[in-house]
Amino acid sequence: MPSALVTGASSGIGASVVRSLVGAGFDAHAMARRADRLKALAAETGCIPVVADVRDTAALESAVTDLAPDVLVNNAGLGAGLTGLVRASAEDVASTIETNVTALLQLTRMIVPSMIARGSGHVVNLGSVAGLYPINSAVYGGSKGAVHLISQNLRLELRGTGVRVTEINPGRVTTEFFDVAVPEPVEGIDKAPPIQALTADDIAAAILYAVQAPAHVNVSMVEIQPTEQAFGGGGFDLINWGTR
Ligand code: NDP
Repeated sequence: MPSALVTGASSGIGASVVRSLVGAGFDAHAMARRADRLKALAAETGCIPVVADVRDTAALESAVTDLAPDVLVNNAGLGAGLTGLVRASAEDVASTIETNVTALLQLTRMIVPSMIARGSGHVVNLGSVAGLYPINSAVYGGSKGAVHLISQNLRLELRGTGVRVTEINPGRVTTEFFDVAVPEPVEGIDKAPPIQALTADDIAAAILYAVQAPAHVNVSMVEIQPTEQAFGGGGFDLINWGTR
């Protein structure tokens, strides 16, 4: 049975990815900090909970020491400091970079050698349209811009090993993301998008497509946006700060 490790599996996109991979016959390991959420997901899907804080490199190392998944989905992420660098705290900057960038690199470094040894494997990184276009958020946009170039460079590094790398760049998805990123009301920020946003299942479907493609096909990058979201001037971009 193929196996997968999905980070950030206690809610939103990660939980949907676990459901979809288990539905497709994967043995799924589901990682996050909230043990109660993972326990409920395990009861629902049969996935295996892995309680860990991805920012803690030593804890991460011991959590995955016996794991050699065929698919690694680097999904854990957050948008602390989303509303702008000058409004952000030192902890906002640290937690966003450590979670979205450093942990993704550390976990990939730990898992990919077993994929190389088998001559196959798949790393799926959750980027964002915020990593491809300016969205008025230096901290979050910078972190996802890093994911974009990490993914592109990793594909190059792994060329010839049989290991695939896919970057998924969603627009606005309805999850707990904005509740975590902007817990208190901030003037000029409308947390409810005036459009029909994507669902976590929409993103899980794109990931499943990439994972189930034949071994010689690398879906290198997917940009997936709500129909009413576009960049380039006017209308709804990512966040609709209401200040532009
Ligand atoms: P959610 O807030 O619903 O989920 C985030 C997940 O990340 C949770 O399961 C959370 O689990 C986990 N997580 C956060 N910090 C840590 C940590 N230190 N250690 C382990 N797990 C952690 O948001 P989404 O589902 O929307 O986000 C998933 C990914 O998609 C993120 O990378 C996000 O940047 C990206 N994305 C989201 C978009 C959106 O509009 N929602 C758009 C584009 C990209 P726990 O708190 O239990 O640890």
